Amino acid sequence: MAKAIRVHEIGGPEALVYEDVEVPSPGKGEVRIRQHAMGVNFIDVYFRNGLYKAVATPFTIGHDAAGEIVDVGPGVTDFHPGDRVAYYHGPGAYTTERVVPAGRVVKLPDFITYEQAAALMLKGLTAHYLLHRTFRVERGHHILIHAAAGGVGLIACQWAASMGAHVIGTVGTREKADLAYSNGCEHVILYNEEDFAARVKQITNGDLCDVVYDGVGKATFPGSLDCLKPFGMFVSFGNASGPVPPFAMLELAKRGSLFATRPVLNDYIARRNDLVIAADTLFAAVLNGSLKVPFQRAYALRDAAKAHRDLEARLTTGASILKP
Ligand code: NDP
Repeated sequence: MAKAIRVHEIGGPEALVYEDVEVPSPGKGEVRIRQHAMGVNFIDVYFRNGLYKAVATPFTIGHDAAGEIVDVGPGVTDFHPGDRVAYYHGPGAYTTERVVPAGRVVKLPDFITYEQAAALMLKGLTAHYLLHRTFRVERGHHILIHAAAGGVGLIACQWAASMGAHVIGTVGTREKADLAYSNGCEHVILYNEEDFAARVKQITNGDLCDVVYDGVGKATFPGSLDCLKPFGMFVSFGNASGPVPPFAMLELAKRGSLFATRPVLNDYIARRNDLVIAADTLFAAVLNGSLKVPFQRAYALRDAAKAHRDLEARLTTGASILKP
């Protein structure tokens, strides 16, 4: 028997119920993990409130975690009981024990703690594909990262700065601005107080940005498009303030042949090899000092509702985790 946070009916944070769950033995190609730390992510909010649909209710919420293998199913040869591992996988991570496909799991190097891994997996793998694959950030690029002091934001800002980009971040408060400055941002805009597109124009002397990474969604649209130079890339990767409304393709044409994409991590790590390369690159960035793990808060698993309230109320910075 394990303890888990499950959702029986979609709704607010009160929909998160702490209860006993049965954990099956691992089947063919699966491993069972005793979890020591779980990530808290905005995608968990979307599943809890119904913006993203779970396959069935009740379901265990959560997408990434770290822990030790306690059992392996038939056919698993790469993992053994006692291995320190982490994963990103569909809903089911807010639990003390979980069975996941071995193909979704990566081994943790000794220098990464379980807490760091839980803070890094979903957010760090996301920052990796956004900066290296969706748009290849290069030295000298001007890039705009919204919610720069958030979980994905702090990782992306540090990493992009280490790649030589000029990073402009947006944040909601002055405290968050300080954090963004100390994590790679050259310029920080308080987007609740200032017209961020006008400020971006001023900062870049009218040149605008090569790419905008927008996980905020509704509230920053269409301003994000106004921050892009001709041929620039609008990367809409999240909906913290609500989804981007449908828009006319001509909006891209009239700002200079812009590109727009709505990427999803699942697609970028669907192949095992892509997952392994991304995780290795992420851990190497921590080892070589390009990336400090932005782990800021730990909550008890039973207090997951509090973690969601804080995340939705914009009270958190960096990554939050849950502990069993
Ligand atoms: P964050 O820690 O970044 O939290 C969200 C932040 O968004 C807040 O702290 C807040 O920062 C800002 N925000 C702006 N408007 C609102 C609003 N109305 N309500 C709440 N927050 C708001 O979360 P994560 O790091 O977990 O995720 C960041 C984004 O990345 C999310 O949109 C998430 O869905 C997306 N994501 C997408 C993935 C993908 O593959 N497509 C994978 C992983 C994450 P401030 O106060 O500074 O404005």
